[in-house]
Amino acid sequence: MKLHFSHRIRRHILLCTLCGREIAPGEEYWACNGSRVCAACLLDFAKQEFAACRQTRGKEIPL
Ligand SMILES: [Zn+2]
Repeated sequence: MKLHFSHRIRRHILLCTLCGREIAPGEEYWACNGSRVCAACLLDFAKQEFAACRQTRGKEIPL
């Protein structure tokens, strides 16, 4: 049984929500709150997502 995945995957190009780069077949990405984020953008995305939890040592804001 021969499977031709390449055509099926090519049909639907997935772009990173943050940088707009194509997320290639086999590449990891994070689908979170309606965003699709590539590994390179994950840190920036996480910083946005967890902005409410951010603290600065010595200047902590009580949550
Ligand atoms: Zn990206």
